[in-house]
Amino acid sequence: MKITNDLAELLKRTRLDPEEIAERFRFLDWQEEDAKRLSAAAQRMAPAQQAFVDHLYRHLEQFATPSALLRMPEVTARLKQSQIEYYQRLWAGPYDDDYVNGRLRIGVIHQKVGLELKWYLGGYRLYLDDMLSSLFDDDRSITLYSSLLKAVFFDISLAIDTYSAAQHKALEDSEARFARALRGANDGLWDWHVDQDRLYVSERWASMLGLSRDSIGETSASWFSRIHPDDLPDFHQAIDAHLKGQTPSFHHEYRIRQHDSSYIWVLVRGVADATTPGQLRMAGSQSDISAYKGAEQRLKHTARHDSLTGLANRMRFDEQLQSALLRQGKNGTREAALLFIDLDRFKLINDSLGHRAGDHVLVEVAKRLNGCLRPGDQLFRFGGDEFIVLLDDLACSSDAEHVAQRLLDSLRQPLHLDNRTLVVSASIGITPLQDEGTTLDTLQAADLALYRAKAAGKAQFARYTEGLQIVAQHHLELESSLGQALQNDEFELHYQPICRIDQDHVHLTGVEALLRWRRGERLISPLEFIPALEESGEIIHVGEWVLRQACRQTRAWQLTGQGGLRCSVNISSRQLQQADFVPRLIDILQDSGLPPSSLILEITESLLMHDNAETLSCLNELASLGVQLALDDFGTGYSSLGYLKRFPLHILKVDKSFIGGTPDDSELSTISRAIIGLGRSLGMEVVAEGVESDAQLDFVVGEGCHYAQGYWFSRPRPAANLQQLFSGEDCFEGLWCLLPDAQQTPIYDPAATEAEQ
Ligand code: C2E
Ligand code: MG
Ligand code: MG
Repeated sequence: MKITNDLAELLKRTRLDPEEIAERFRFLDWQEEDAKRLSAAAQRMAPAQQAFVDHLYRHLEQFATPSALLRMPEVTARLKQSQIEYYQRLWAGPYDDDYVNGRLRIGVIHQKVGLELKWYLGGYRLYLDDMLSSLFDDDRSITLYSSLLKAVFFDISLAIDTYSAAQHKALEDSEARFARALRGANDGLWDWHVDQDRLYVSERWASMLGLSRDSIGETSASWFSRIHPDDLPDFHQAIDAHLKGQTPSFHHEYRIRQHDSSYIWVLVRGVADATTPGQLRMAGSQSDISAYKGAEQRLKHTARHDSLTGLANRMRFDEQLQSALLRQGKNGTREAALLFIDLDRFKLINDSLGHRAGDHVLVEVAKRLNGCLRPGDQLFRFGGDEFIVLLDDLACSSDAEHVAQRLLDSLRQPLHLDNRTLVVSASIGITPLQDEGTTLDTLQAADLALYRAKAAGKAQFARYTEGLQIVAQHHLELESSLGQALQNDEFELHYQPICRIDQDHVHLTGVEALLRWRRGERLISPLEFIPALEESGEIIHVGEWVLRQACRQTRAWQLTGQGGLRCSVNISSRQLQQADFVPRLIDILQDSGLPPSSLILEITESLLMHDNAETLSCLNELASLGVQLALDDFGTGYSSLGYLKRFPLHILKVDKSFIGGTPDDSELSTISRAIIGLGRSLGMEVVAEGVESDAQLDFVVGEGCHYAQGYWFSRPRPAANLQQLFSGEDCFEGLWCLLPDAQQTPIYDPAATEAEQ
């Protein structure tokens, strides 16, 4: 079988096709007569052949190499017999395909047993010599021709040597080049005879695994059994794809086990060769790519993790959410939920304490959140102060709420930062993972729930419901029509009285202009749309309209009997940041004729927090015009006392969330008392906002607060409505006391005030 294969291979290589054979015969000037002549003499020559074979073996025995091959008598006897048959055939012919194959076959056998060509050729020389003497009897000519044969055969052997030496050298050079290239590439080689499942691997292939070549078996099992179980299916798939012709080459990265049972990453490359039927084989190289894989994995890790907190980042989240959604589609999967966490008022920490402190808070928050989770839960930093928790294995959907509550509780613990103690809180939106959901749907749903939690007062969680989607839609519509509201004349101003309160005397000294948006029948509160106006920048135009409108209206009231009336207008920080705010304001004052001292601009702490030179100089300029500045909602922001000294503020407004608690809530009463005292001691006018009851009014009066504003006196009213008050035609809520001959009617009726608007 082996010889037949080798012979087939050799025939292919020598390209001994019929044409080649015909050419050789032509060059030998071979005639039909030659065959006939030889065949006719064959019988006669038989004894001489026999004698020659004996002669040949005797001759060979004198030489060490061939005699070593002829040590066993029974082998020698068999060889002699086949030689005799051959020489018989040499004379008898026919010189057909069978003859050629027979000769080549003998050649292959001789080459395989290691008989060099010189013995082979020398044997022919002896043969011709013996034949010569048995054919002719002229001794002199015979000896001469015999000598010539010897010389010619010597030359032939030399010529063959040079040819084969040159071929050897070319082969060796090529092999050396190949070996050098391999050493340089440091790759292992493999050659797998697929049909017979015979595997050859190179020394380097084995040493890559810390093994010797001999310790690796000769079938593919000794290779494949070392492949990491997780990588095996893909490996087989890659081979199959290539064997089916679906890929031009086999190219695959996988992990393979080393002698010490550890794994290294390797890259295998190869191609299949199926040119000979039944001889499908694949061969190629294998390189150790562990170092590159390590670097790749480090890069992958870096790209998927946040450097500040070390948590997985948004990119990793996207991948994990995708696979969680896919898992959700499978039967028997437990419930899964996504928690979208956003820190409340984190910007305030960053703006007031600086980014370093902000970073510190984020790291601490990440630690706390992590501490609340179970091993299978995943935490990500989504960006800024946003975190996401993916809960993949919940017994029931309400478990997500328990986790959310745990997270909120852990964040609520005071956080110590340098010499400060901070309390951070977060809002959380929860959404279940739906099997038919997409990444976008899930995030949107969680975001809506988060928005809901924020809107409901922060520091809490909210679950996604379909209703939220409708609310969001509504918001979107609201925002798009808000852009047109000014043009469409949909804004109007309401005015709320602000009263001077002394122990024995209360009288109206001013009004606060408050913006309203009329949409059909509905009157929308500024709390709903001011943030959107600020975000779009539209607040600048709307704010200017408010100022102009309020100044004109107040001036009109001044001219009709309310001479000393002051007007407070709320100013957004975006308005004050305009470079030309002051000249615009001067224009408005001149246009309306309102004295600057009758205008109070209400600003909030968020503006002062930026604490930059422009803000300060703008406020100073306004103050020097004679305009009054009030700090609104004091106590709800980062209440820094530093602002009160640094900025030219005249009025302090105590937020209604404090006043609302007086006098029953002792804590809120204490805070209100402190703020009122603080304003007074700094020489500022203090206004208590949100006074709704007698008791609250008594409280603020008792604390020496100068002014008050709230439903007890009046709700904000349209200008025309207030006009009735000024002209004594009507009175409402607590304002009966402001009128010269006040009736003793109920001073505060919540039902009536609810009905307003
Ligand atoms: P603010 O400047 O603190 O205005 C006082 C808010 O408290 C008003 O709400 C008023 O209706 C409400 N209020 C007054 N007395 C009481 C009371 O006794 N009890 C209760 N519960 N509330 C009372 P409103 O009109 O909804 O305005 C909300 C906020 O919107 C204002 O708070 C102000 O910050 C902002 N705002 C209003 N108009 C404008 C404006 O033209 N420009 C800017 N930038 N902001 C405005
Ligand atoms: Mg205000
Ligand atoms: Mg206020």
